[in-house]
Amino acid sequence: MKHPVRHAEFLLTVANDEQLPPPGPPEIAFAGRSNAGKSSAINALASRSRLAFTSKTPGRTQQINFFRLRNGALLADLPGYGYAAVPQDLKRHWQEFLARYLATRQSLVGLALVVDARHGLAELDCRLLAGYLTSGRPVLLLATKMDKFGASGQREAKRAIERDLAAAFPAHVAQVAVVPFSATRRIGIETAEAMLSDWLGDAEYDAGEPAPVAVKEKAPRPRGMARGPKYPR
Ligand code: GDP
Repeated sequence: MKHPVRHAEFLLTVANDEQLPPPGPPEIAFAGRSNAGKSSAINALASRSRLAFTSKTPGRTQQINFFRLRNGALLADLPGYGYAAVPQDLKRHWQEFLARYLATRQSLVGLALVVDARHGLAELDCRLLAGYLTSGRPVLLLATKMDKFGASGQREAKRAIERDLAAAFPAHVAQVAVVPFSATRRIGIETAEAMLSDWLGDAEYDAGEPAPVAVKEKAPRPRGMARGPKYPR
């Protein structure tokens, strides 16, 4: 499939394990710290300006948005992590949800991890990778915002990420491909598309549509926080 994410369509939003669509067609997941550039990367790959869009309101961003790709495969846009203003219990809840999804989702064929190349690999990225890499599945690490660097800066930023990966996960380096990327300058799009296509294969999937679930905020309400409009949504 030449442009695997183009013509992707929003399918449903999921806020807890019970709402996950039954595993069927192959699924690729996109993860990254808040503000790393994940939505921009998805939009660049989709050639759409607002397929995935971030709301900086914590409650809203803490969901998995599923998109259906042209061949029937799924793209899971995972909640951005590390958002400073999220209450601690809620943060833990979502980190656990994410970790569980990545470790146990049967239909997951690969993870695209979006990392801001200026900041490199963060501790939360490593924690997420630690839970995922043992599954043996591949990672496309999009080192994004490369437009902020000149040619030698781009090479150095990529090398720094590769060094950190090799130090943290010496047994898993072969599973991770670091691809210099920029949504704004469209750097790395073709390389990313080639990898995603490779994961998804050529088959067409005609999975029975999982019934869209009407989403209500299901995250636990941290103790001591008021119900209703005072709680950030
Ligand atoms: P998300 O929270 O990970 O989904 O991040 P967004 O895609 O919303 O991007 C966060 C910020 O980084 C926004 O201000 C974007 O305009 C900016 N951004 C995202 N990708 C790029 C990129 O490739 N280059 C540059 N220069 N800025 C980017």
